[in-house]
Amino acid sequence: MSDHQTVLIIEDEADIQTLLRTVLTRNDFDVLVASDGLTGIFLAKEHHPDLIVLDVGLPDMDGWGVLEQLRSASNVPVIMLTAHGTEADRVRGFGAGADDYLVKPFSNKELIARIRAVLRRSQPAQAQPDLYNDGVLAIDFIAKLVSVNGRLLKVTPIEFRLLSAFAKSAGLVLSVQQLLEAAWGNPPADGQDRVKFSILRIRKKLGWSESGPIVAVRGFGYRYDPPSNAVPDEVLPQHPEEPS
Ligand code: CA
Repeated sequence: MSDHQTVLIIEDEADIQTLLRTVLTRNDFDVLVASDGLTGIFLAKEHHPDLIVLDVGLPDMDGWGVLEQLRSASNVPVIMLTAHGTEADRVRGFGAGADDYLVKPFSNKELIARIRAVLRRSQPAQAQPDLYNDGVLAIDFIAKLVSVNGRLLKVTPIEFRLLSAFAKSAGLVLSVQQLLEAAWGNPPADGQDRVKFSILRIRKKLGWSESGPIVAVRGFGYRYDPPSNAVPDEVLPQHPEEPS
């Protein structure tokens, strides 16, 4: 028995199937492939994959219909593959219960980063570490301390909760609604503006610009991009008491 995580690919285009299979196998995932929606749903029920990569355009039914059927049976993380430039598809994907999306054409690096981030986020809450550190942004969730490039910063409770939400979902888009719930709990009606202005203040305080690492994703929300060389799982001291 392999202890690798299993990814189910539901995609009809042979080239993309091959690419996904090659990249995933090379990165130590076990791979299952379905070329149509019904086979995909069957394989998901039969094999309980750890994650599903689901194309929107399939021959027998569209990816949204597949997602709906998958969701009626399980919370398996799903990354949608969408055609280039279809912003509406992305927003729809989140509404329909997708965990993330990739726009074709995507790079191998982006694919693996998204898969790892979604798998990390879907792990049970008790696996959440007390610290986050990607080399730029560091947060001590217990002591409520934030530092950027090694410099400790004074942040308000709202700013702390926003930054924590970004760190816990580093590399993934968070909707304005998700940010409101994370930082304000019970979001007020004028919430959109509160998120916008808080992010403006955070950028100013941390010396960050619109171009990153907190970026706006039009029509959806915001994403925190950790430095590309950061591998949070390895950077984090999960068991600081153990000698290394
Ligand atoms: Ca397709």
